[in-house]
Amino acid sequence: MTFKNKFGFGCMRLPVTDENDPTSINQELFNEMVDIYMEKGFNYFDTSYAYHNGMSEIAIKKAVVERYPRDSYLICDKMPTWALKSEKDNDKFVDEMLERLGIDYFDVFFVHNINVPWLKLAEDAKAFEYVKKMKEKGLAKKIGFSFHDNSILLKEVLDKYAEFLDIVQLELNYLDWEDPSIEARKCYELCVKYGLDVYVMEPLKGGVIVNPSDEIKNDFKEFNPDKSIASFALRFCASLEHVKIVLSGMNNMEDLLDNCDTFENFKVISDEENEFLEKMAEKLHSTVAVPCSECGYCVDACPEMIPIPEYFSLYNRSKNQPESDIYRNYFDKLADEKVPADDCTYCSTCIDYCTQKIDIPEELEKVCKHFEKGFSAYSGAP
Ligand code: SF4
Ligand code: SF4
Repeated sequence: MTFKNKFGFGCMRLPVTDENDPTSINQELFNEMVDIYMEKGFNYFDTSYAYHNGMSEIAIKKAVVERYPRDSYLICDKMPTWALKSEKDNDKFVDEMLERLGIDYFDVFFVHNINVPWLKLAEDAKAFEYVKKMKEKGLAKKIGFSFHDNSILLKEVLDKYAEFLDIVQLELNYLDWEDPSIEARKCYELCVKYGLDVYVMEPLKGGVIVNPSDEIKNDFKEFNPDKSIASFALRFCASLEHVKIVLSGMNNMEDLLDNCDTFENFKVISDEENEFLEKMAEKLHSTVAVPCSECGYCVDACPEMIPIPEYFSLYNRSKNQPESDIYRNYFDKLADEKVPADDCTYCSTCIDYCTQKIDIPEELEKVCKHFEKGFSAYSGAP
């Protein structure tokens, strides 16, 4: 496998025509992006039952399956672990996914998003045994699971299932590499030890890495004015020997072209660049108030249906621009139109679902204080 083959098209955040409607995929733009991606020799598409409320799979059918020969692309799909109520549900979801995509086998199939609560659901429904059978029947060429937790749980899962799996999809990026909650390096090394390939999700940490403070943006410009911040993040992941796919979620043409350029002219990350990224990770850690990747899993878990990532996004942006009060207006609007952040009952249900291990109720309280009391009192370190 060459470095070029490592570039995967993540289909969790496709272009939409209405920002408030995840199902409103801009099919025309997505088709154009797919054409350029395929023309340049890339071929891997990652989706799930849940992305864009099921419309991601349908958009891939229209853009890829109906327009390209089956042997010219690879599709990865994922079992909706959280929706499994019994063993029979495995069949039901797989049939539905195949139909939505218009294919009769998956190139890669994962049990989706293993963390503490969803490992239990997956095991109760025998999802790991089910994907093993999928591979035996030729319904999936390679199998594995996507994972959002720490190295202790990963080891537990690998001890039980690694012998028949091929891949673990990990959240991995230079910000989380040594993070004590995410443990990206430890998780990567465990997968290597168990002989499994690593596919990378969130190489940009849901946008946190590419939307830093102006100071960090300037540091990158000074270090290399010709390359984007995203290009460093993707190269960091793809330079790791056992990483076979790096997904990038792209919702505009500019990002697609930049990422294509990164992989067409791939250069392994140098020691000097690694040192620079370590420094940038330290700086980012000290300036990002809440390291939320906006994955949204907490929202489904929250009984109050608080739009948690939207509050965290406003908070982070407000911290980076303490002189602007525009985010306070957005905060008030969000509370009016959806659910106020201070409706949080501190039940803690969301914490186990958070892919970034954020203490959500504690951080929501900080968000409320920040916007209620004005910026000056809270514009210091997070
Ligand atoms: S702690 Fe707050 S945000 Fe989390 S699930 Fe409970 S009510 Fe929702
Ligand atoms: S708070 Fe955690 S679970 Fe919720 S969107 Fe952010 S990273 Fe995802």
